[in-house]
Amino acid sequence: MAQIRVENLRKSFDQFTAVEGSNFTIDDGTFFAMLGPSGCGKTTTLRMIAGLELPTEGKILLDGKDVTFDRASARDIAFVFQLFALYPHMNVAGNIGFPLKCQGMGRREIRQRVEETARLLRIEHLLSSKTSKLSGGDRQRVALGRAMVRRPKAFLMDEPLGALDAEFRHLMCGELRDLHDRIGATTIYVTHDQLEAMSMADQIAVMNKGRVEQISSPQEIYDRPASMFVADFIGSPPMNFLRFEGGLHCGDRAISFHDTDIIVPEIREDRASAPLVLGVRPEHIRFTDAAPVRGEVFGAEYLGTTQIVTVDTAHGRVAARLPSAMPVRVGETVGLEFHSERLALFDAG
Ligand code: ADP
Ligand code: MG
Repeated sequence: MAQIRVENLRKSFDQFTAVEGSNFTIDDGTFFAMLGPSGCGKTTTLRMIAGLELPTEGKILLDGKDVTFDRASARDIAFVFQLFALYPHMNVAGNIGFPLKCQGMGRREIRQRVEETARLLRIEHLLSSKTSKLSGGDRQRVALGRAMVRRPKAFLMDEPLGALDAEFRHLMCGELRDLHDRIGATTIYVTHDQLEAMSMADQIAVMNKGRVEQISSPQEIYDRPASMFVADFIGSPPMNFLRFEGGLHCGDRAISFHDTDIIVPEIREDRASAPLVLGVRPEHIRFTDAAPVRGEVFGAEYLGTTQIVTVDTAHGRVAARLPSAMPVRVGETVGLEFHSERLALFDAG
Protein backbone atom coordinates (compact mmCIF):
# COMPACT_ATOMS: atom_id res chain seq x y z
CA MET A 1 0.00 0.00 0.00
CA ALA A 2 1.41 3.36 -0.91
CA GLN A 3 1.01 7.06 -1.14
CA ILE A 4 2.27 8.40 -4.47
CA ARG A 5 3.44 11.96 -4.77
CA VAL A 6 4.82 13.84 -7.76
CA GLU A 7 6.49 17.21 -7.42
CA ASN A 8 7.00 19.55 -10.34
CA LEU A 9 7.26 16.59 -12.68
CA ARG A 10 8.29 17.52 -16.20
CA LYS A 11 9.28 15.55 -19.29
CA SER A 12 10.66 16.89 -22.54
CA PHE A 13 11.49 14.97 -25.69
CA ASP A 14 13.98 17.23 -27.51
CA GLN A 15 12.17 20.58 -27.87
CA PHE A 16 8.74 19.12 -27.13
CA THR A 17 7.38 19.16 -23.58
CA ALA A 18 5.04 16.20 -23.03
CA VAL A 19 4.44 16.82 -19.30
CA GLU A 20 4.72 20.28 -17.76
CA GLY A 21 5.26 20.60 -14.03
CA SER A 22 2.69 18.21 -12.58
CA ASN A 23 2.06 18.29 -8.84
CA PHE A 24 -0.24 15.90 -7.03
CA THR A 25 -0.50 13.53 -4.11
CA ILE A 26 -2.44 10.29 -4.31
CA ASP A 27 -3.37 9.05 -0.87
CA ASP A 28 -2.92 5.42 0.05
CA GLY A 29 -5.77 3.27 -1.22
CA THR A 30 -7.15 5.84 -3.65
CA PHE A 31 -8.48 4.93 -7.08
CA PHE A 32 -7.05 7.81 -9.08
CA ALA A 33 -7.94 8.36 -12.74
CA MET A 34 -5.79 10.34 -15.16
CA LEU A 35 -8.15 11.57 -17.84
CA GLY A 36 -7.49 13.52 -21.01
CA PRO A 37 -7.44 13.37 -24.79
CA SER A 38 -4.86 11.38 -26.73
CA GLY A 39 -1.41 12.99 -26.60
CA CYS A 40 -1.97 15.02 -23.40
CA GLY A 41 0.83 13.22 -21.50
CA LYS A 42 -0.96 10.51 -19.53
CA THR A 43 1.24 7.58 -20.56
CA THR A 44 4.41 9.63 -20.16
CA THR A 45 3.39 10.56 -16.61
CA LEU A 46 2.58 6.96 -15.77
CA ARG A 47 5.86 5.66 -17.23
CA MET A 48 7.80 8.12 -15.07
CA ILE A 49 5.95 6.97 -11.96
CA ALA A 50 6.62 3.34 -12.91
CA GLY A 51 10.31 4.02 -13.48
CA LEU A 52 10.24 3.26 -17.20
CA GLU A 53 11.11 6.84 -18.13
CA LEU A 54 13.36 9.37 -16.41
CA PRO A 55 11.83 12.79 -15.71
CA THR A 56 13.53 15.84 -17.19
CA GLU A 57 12.81 17.62 -13.93
CA GLY A 58 10.96 16.99 -10.68
CA LYS A 59 10.53 14.22 -8.15
CA ILE A 60 8.51 11.08 -7.54
CA LEU A 61 7.93 9.97 -3.95
CA LEU A 62 6.52 6.66 -2.78
CA ASP A 63 5.39 6.81 0.83
CA GLY A 64 7.55 9.88 1.21
CA LYS A 65 10.68 8.18 -0.15
CA ASP A 66 12.30 9.75 -3.20
CA VAL A 67 12.35 7.05 -5.90
CA THR A 68 12.93 9.33 -8.88
CA PHE A 69 16.13 7.55 -9.85
CA ASP A 70 15.23 4.04 -8.63
CA ARG A 71 14.88 1.31 -11.22
CA ALA A 72 11.35 0.13 -12.05
CA SER A 73 11.95 -3.22 -10.36
CA ALA A 74 12.90 -1.50 -7.10
CA ARG A 75 9.62 0.43 -6.91
CA ASP A 76 7.24 -2.40 -6.15
CA ILE A 77 4.63 -1.06 -8.53
CA ALA A 78 2.70 -3.15 -11.08
CA PHE A 79 2.33 -1.60 -14.50
CA VAL A 80 -0.62 -3.03 -16.40
CA PHE A 81 -0.93 -1.83 -19.93
CA GLN A 82 -2.73 -4.61 -21.73
CA LEU A 83 -4.87 -6.95 -19.77
CA PHE A 84 -5.09 -9.49 -22.55
CA ALA A 85 -1.48 -10.59 -22.97
CA LEU A 86 -1.20 -14.13 -21.56
CA TYR A 87 1.27 -16.98 -22.12
CA PRO A 88 -0.71 -19.44 -24.30
CA HIS A 89 1.39 -22.51 -23.47
CA MET A 90 0.77 -22.24 -19.70
CA ASN A 91 -2.41 -22.91 -17.76
CA VAL A 92 -4.05 -20.27 -15.58
CA ALA A 93 -2.01 -21.11 -12.47
CA GLY A 94 1.21 -20.97 -14.52
CA ASN A 95 0.30 -17.58 -15.92
CA ILE A 96 -0.57 -16.06 -12.57
CA GLY A 97 2.47 -17.54 -10.82
CA PHE A 98 4.97 -16.68 -13.53
CA PRO A 99 6.25 -13.40 -12.00
CA LEU A 100 6.94 -15.21 -8.70
CA LYS A 101 8.78 -18.00 -10.50
CA CYS A 102 10.96 -15.35 -12.15
CA GLN A 103 11.74 -13.99 -8.69
CA GLY A 104 12.89 -17.47 -7.66
CA MET A 105 10.16 -18.07 -5.09
CA GLY A 106 9.63 -21.65 -3.86
CA ARG A 107 6.91 -23.83 -5.39
CA ARG A 108 4.79 -24.17 -2.26
CA GLU A 109 4.76 -20.48 -1.61
CA ILE A 110 3.93 -19.77 -5.26
CA ARG A 111 1.05 -22.18 -5.07
CA GLN A 112 -0.32 -20.47 -1.96
CA ARG A 113 -0.04 -17.03 -3.46
CA VAL A 114 -1.61 -18.11 -6.75
CA GLU A 115 -4.57 -19.65 -4.94
CA GLU A 116 -5.04 -16.59 -2.80
CA THR A 117 -4.95 -14.34 -5.87
CA ALA A 118 -7.38 -16.57 -7.75
CA ARG A 119 -9.75 -16.42 -4.79
CA LEU A 120 -9.69 -12.63 -4.83
CA LEU A 121 -10.51 -12.70 -8.54
CA ARG A 122 -13.05 -15.49 -8.08
CA ILE A 123 -11.36 -17.76 -10.63
CA GLU A 124 -10.18 -20.61 -8.33
CA HIS A 125 -12.13 -23.11 -10.44
CA LEU A 126 -10.06 -22.19 -13.53
CA LEU A 127 -6.55 -22.69 -12.15
CA SER A 128 -5.78 -25.79 -14.22
CA SER A 129 -7.56 -24.55 -17.39
CA LYS A 130 -5.74 -23.64 -20.60
CA THR A 131 -5.86 -19.90 -21.23
CA SER A 132 -6.94 -20.47 -24.84
CA LYS A 133 -10.19 -22.02 -23.56
CA LEU A 134 -11.13 -18.98 -21.45
CA SER A 135 -13.80 -16.37 -22.10
CA GLY A 136 -12.67 -12.77 -22.62
CA GLY A 137 -13.60 -11.78 -19.08
CA ASP A 138 -11.69 -14.66 -17.53
CA ARG A 139 -8.61 -13.86 -19.64
CA GLN A 140 -8.75 -10.34 -18.25
CA ARG A 141 -9.00 -11.69 -14.73
CA VAL A 142 -5.98 -13.95 -15.24
CA ALA A 143 -3.92 -11.09 -16.66
CA LEU A 144 -4.90 -9.01 -13.67
CA GLY A 145 -3.98 -11.89 -11.37
CA ARG A 146 -0.50 -11.93 -12.85
CA ALA A 147 -0.14 -8.23 -11.99
CA MET A 148 -1.52 -8.73 -8.47
CA VAL A 149 0.37 -11.82 -7.42
CA ARG A 150 3.53 -9.97 -6.41
CA ARG A 151 1.38 -7.88 -4.05
CA PRO A 152 2.61 -4.58 -5.43
CA LYS A 153 2.21 -1.38 -3.44
CA ALA A 154 0.34 0.22 -6.30
CA PHE A 155 -1.19 -0.53 -9.68
CA LEU A 156 -0.68 1.65 -12.71
CA MET A 157 -3.10 0.87 -15.52
CA ASP A 158 -2.76 2.43 -18.94
CA GLU A 159 -6.06 2.22 -20.82
CA PRO A 160 -6.30 -1.46 -19.84
CA LEU A 161 -9.76 -1.90 -21.35
CA GLY A 162 -9.10 0.12 -24.49
CA ALA A 163 -9.37 -2.78 -26.92
CA LEU A 164 -12.69 -4.10 -25.66
CA ASP A 165 -16.19 -3.46 -26.94
CA ALA A 166 -18.39 -1.10 -24.96
CA GLU A 167 -20.54 -3.61 -23.12
CA PHE A 168 -17.64 -5.76 -21.97
CA ARG A 169 -15.68 -2.67 -20.96
CA HIS A 170 -18.54 -1.61 -18.75
CA LEU A 171 -18.56 -5.00 -17.05
CA MET A 172 -14.77 -4.99 -16.49
CA CYS A 173 -14.89 -1.43 -15.12
CA GLY A 174 -17.28 -2.63 -12.45
CA GLU A 175 -15.03 -5.59 -11.66
CA LEU A 176 -11.86 -3.52 -11.46
CA ARG A 177 -13.49 -1.11 -9.05
CA ASP A 178 -14.90 -3.99 -7.00
CA LEU A 179 -11.47 -5.61 -6.86
CA HIS A 180 -9.95 -2.33 -5.78
CA ASP A 181 -12.45 -2.12 -2.93
CA ARG A 182 -11.43 -5.61 -1.79
CA ILE A 183 -7.64 -5.24 -1.96
CA GLY A 184 -7.41 -1.49 -1.42
CA ALA A 185 -4.13 -0.90 -3.28
CA THR A 186 -3.48 2.60 -4.62
CA THR A 187 -4.40 2.58 -8.30
CA ILE A 188 -3.69 5.03 -11.10
CA TYR A 189 -6.00 4.37 -14.00
CA VAL A 190 -5.29 6.16 -17.27
CA THR A 191 -8.11 6.67 -19.72
CA HIS A 192 -9.39 9.07 -22.37
CA ASP A 193 -12.95 7.95 -21.60
CA GLN A 194 -14.69 10.36 -19.22
CA LEU A 195 -17.42 7.83 -18.39
CA GLU A 196 -14.84 5.27 -17.20
CA ALA A 197 -13.10 7.86 -15.06
CA MET A 198 -16.33 9.25 -13.66
CA SER A 199 -17.76 5.87 -12.75
CA MET A 200 -14.64 4.32 -11.21
CA ALA A 201 -12.43 6.95 -9.63
CA ASP A 202 -12.29 8.52 -6.19
CA GLN A 203 -10.22 11.35 -7.65
CA ILE A 204 -9.73 12.44 -11.25
CA ALA A 205 -6.84 14.46 -12.68
CA VAL A 206 -7.93 16.04 -15.95
CA MET A 207 -4.96 16.65 -18.26
CA ASN A 208 -4.66 18.90 -21.28
CA LYS A 209 -1.51 19.47 -23.35
CA GLY A 210 0.83 18.17 -20.69
CA ARG A 211 -0.79 20.08 -17.84
CA VAL A 212 -3.06 18.92 -15.05
CA GLU A 213 -6.04 21.30 -15.21
CA GLN A 214 -8.01 20.00 -12.23
CA ILE A 215 -7.81 17.31 -9.57
CA SER A 216 -11.07 16.63 -7.76
CA SER A 217 -13.74 14.05 -7.08
CA PRO A 218 -15.91 13.11 -10.08
CA GLN A 219 -18.82 15.11 -8.68
CA GLU A 220 -16.72 18.20 -8.06
CA ILE A 221 -15.28 17.99 -11.58
CA TYR A 222 -18.77 17.74 -13.02
CA ASP A 223 -20.35 20.42 -10.86
CA ARG A 224 -17.46 22.86 -10.60
CA PRO A 225 -15.14 22.50 -13.58
CA ALA A 226 -12.00 24.60 -13.13
CA SER A 227 -11.69 25.52 -16.79
CA MET A 228 -13.62 25.51 -20.05
CA PHE A 229 -11.48 22.60 -21.19
CA VAL A 230 -12.57 20.48 -18.21
CA ALA A 231 -16.20 21.56 -18.58
CA ASP A 232 -16.14 20.60 -22.23
CA PHE A 233 -14.41 17.26 -21.71
CA ILE A 234 -16.83 15.98 -19.05
CA GLY A 235 -20.49 15.16 -19.63
CA SER A 236 -22.38 14.12 -22.72
CA PRO A 237 -23.49 16.26 -24.29
CA PRO A 238 -20.86 18.52 -22.68
CA MET A 239 -21.48 21.77 -20.85
CA ASN A 240 -22.87 24.58 -23.01
CA PHE A 241 -20.91 27.80 -23.31
CA LEU A 242 -22.84 31.01 -23.87
CA ARG A 243 -20.82 34.07 -24.76
CA PHE A 244 -21.89 37.42 -23.35
CA GLU A 245 -19.79 40.15 -24.92
CA GLY A 246 -21.07 43.02 -22.79
CA GLY A 247 -21.34 41.23 -19.47
CA LEU A 248 -24.36 39.37 -18.27
CA HIS A 249 -26.98 41.33 -20.12
CA CYS A 250 -29.14 40.34 -23.00
CA GLY A 251 -30.41 43.18 -25.15
CA ASP A 252 -31.34 45.94 -22.76
CA ARG A 253 -32.41 43.56 -20.00
CA ALA A 254 -30.27 41.81 -17.46
CA ILE A 255 -30.82 38.10 -18.04
CA SER A 256 -33.11 36.21 -15.72
CA PHE A 257 -30.61 34.97 -13.16
CA HIS A 258 -29.44 38.57 -12.74
CA ASP A 259 -32.53 39.25 -10.64
CA THR A 260 -32.26 36.03 -8.67
CA ASP A 261 -29.13 37.44 -7.00
CA ILE A 262 -27.69 33.99 -6.62
CA ILE A 263 -25.04 34.30 -9.25
CA VAL A 264 -24.55 38.05 -9.24
CA PRO A 265 -22.57 38.23 -5.98
CA GLU A 266 -19.97 35.95 -7.57
CA ILE A 267 -19.24 38.48 -10.26
CA ARG A 268 -16.97 41.26 -9.15
CA GLU A 269 -18.21 44.76 -10.00
CA ASP A 270 -15.39 45.36 -12.45
CA ARG A 271 -16.27 42.22 -14.38
CA ALA A 272 -19.98 42.80 -14.54
CA SER A 273 -19.68 44.37 -17.97
CA ALA A 274 -16.61 42.46 -19.27
CA PRO A 275 -17.01 39.68 -21.84
CA LEU A 276 -17.92 36.46 -20.05
CA VAL A 277 -18.71 32.86 -20.86
CA LEU A 278 -21.53 31.26 -18.99
CA GLY A 279 -21.35 27.48 -18.59
CA VAL A 280 -24.58 25.54 -18.18
CA ARG A 281 -25.17 21.79 -18.27
CA PRO A 282 -27.90 20.55 -20.64
CA GLU A 283 -29.97 19.24 -17.73
CA HIS A 284 -30.04 22.65 -16.04
CA ILE A 285 -32.02 24.36 -18.78
CA ARG A 286 -35.80 24.77 -19.04
CA PHE A 287 -37.95 26.34 -21.70
CA THR A 288 -39.89 29.33 -20.36
CA ASP A 289 -41.79 31.78 -22.52
CA ALA A 290 -40.71 34.89 -20.66
CA ALA A 291 -36.96 34.10 -20.40
CA PRO A 292 -34.77 36.80 -22.00
CA VAL A 293 -32.28 34.40 -23.62
CA ARG A 294 -34.20 33.32 -26.70
CA GLY A 295 -33.44 31.19 -29.68
CA GLU A 296 -34.77 29.02 -32.45
CA VAL A 297 -35.02 25.24 -32.10
CA PHE A 298 -32.50 23.65 -34.46
CA GLY A 299 -33.19 19.98 -33.80
CA ALA A 300 -34.15 17.31 -31.28
CA GLU A 301 -32.54 13.95 -30.59
CA TYR A 302 -34.77 11.35 -28.95
CA LEU A 303 -33.03 9.36 -26.15
CA GLY A 304 -35.88 7.45 -24.53
CA THR A 305 -36.91 9.22 -21.33
CA THR A 306 -35.16 12.43 -22.35
CA GLN A 307 -34.44 14.29 -25.57
CA ILE A 308 -31.56 16.61 -26.41
CA VAL A 309 -32.97 19.77 -27.97
CA THR A 310 -30.51 22.14 -29.66
CA VAL A 311 -31.35 25.82 -29.80
CA ASP A 312 -29.52 28.54 -31.72
CA THR A 313 -29.20 31.71 -29.65
CA ALA A 314 -27.31 34.97 -30.11
CA HIS A 315 -24.79 33.56 -27.59
CA GLY A 316 -24.15 30.30 -29.43
CA ARG A 317 -25.83 26.92 -29.95
CA VAL A 318 -27.19 25.40 -26.75
CA ALA A 319 -28.16 21.79 -26.01
CA ALA A 320 -30.90 21.21 -23.44
CA ARG A 321 -31.90 17.87 -21.93
CA LEU A 322 -35.68 17.84 -21.62
CA PRO A 323 -38.34 15.21 -20.95
CA SER A 324 -39.03 13.46 -24.24
CA ALA A 325 -42.76 13.83 -23.64
CA MET A 326 -42.38 17.58 -24.12
CA PRO A 327 -43.50 18.62 -27.59
CA VAL A 328 -40.84 20.58 -29.49
CA ARG A 329 -41.06 21.94 -33.04
CA VAL A 330 -37.99 22.63 -35.15
CA GLY A 331 -37.92 26.32 -36.05
CA GLU A 332 -40.04 27.54 -33.14
CA THR A 333 -38.77 30.34 -30.92
CA VAL A 334 -38.23 29.46 -27.26
CA GLY A 335 -36.98 31.19 -24.13
CA LEU A 336 -34.25 29.49 -22.08
CA GLU A 337 -34.16 29.59 -18.31
CA PHE A 338 -31.10 28.34 -16.44
CA HIS A 339 -30.88 26.70 -13.03
CA SER A 340 -29.16 29.62 -11.37
CA GLU A 341 -27.34 27.60 -8.70
CA ARG A 342 -25.71 25.30 -11.24
CA LEU A 343 -24.07 27.83 -13.56
CA ALA A 344 -20.35 28.25 -14.13
CA LEU A 345 -18.63 31.44 -15.19
CA PHE A 346 -15.45 31.62 -17.22
CA ASP A 347 -13.36 34.48 -18.55
CA ALA A 348 -14.03 34.89 -22.25
CA GLY A 349 -10.25 34.81 -22.73
P1 ADP B 1 -1.24 10.11 -23.92
O1 ADP B 1 -0.88 8.83 -23.20
O2 ADP B 1 -2.00 11.07 -23.07
O3 ADP B 1 -1.95 9.83 -25.21
P2 ADP B 1 1.62 10.39 -24.23
O4 ADP B 1 2.14 10.56 -22.86
O5 ADP B 1 1.79 9.05 -24.86
O6 ADP B 1 0.12 10.86 -24.31
O7 ADP B 1 2.33 11.43 -25.19
C1 ADP B 1 2.33 12.81 -24.91
C2 ADP B 1 3.08 13.51 -26.03
O8 ADP B 1 4.45 13.18 -25.97
C3 ADP B 1 2.59 13.12 -27.42
O9 ADP B 1 2.57 14.27 -28.23
C4 ADP B 1 3.63 12.13 -27.88
O10 ADP B 1 3.76 12.17 -29.29
C5 ADP B 1 4.90 12.63 -27.19
N1 ADP B 1 5.82 11.53 -26.90
C6 ADP B 1 5.59 10.48 -26.11
N2 ADP B 1 6.66 9.65 -26.03
C7 ADP B 1 7.60 10.22 -26.86
C8 ADP B 1 8.95 9.85 -27.23
N3 ADP B 1 9.52 8.75 -26.74
N4 ADP B 1 9.60 10.68 -28.09
C9 ADP B 1 9.01 11.79 -28.56
N5 ADP B 1 7.77 12.19 -28.25
C10 ADP B 1 7.07 11.42 -27.41
MG1 MG C 1 -1.34 6.85 -23.71
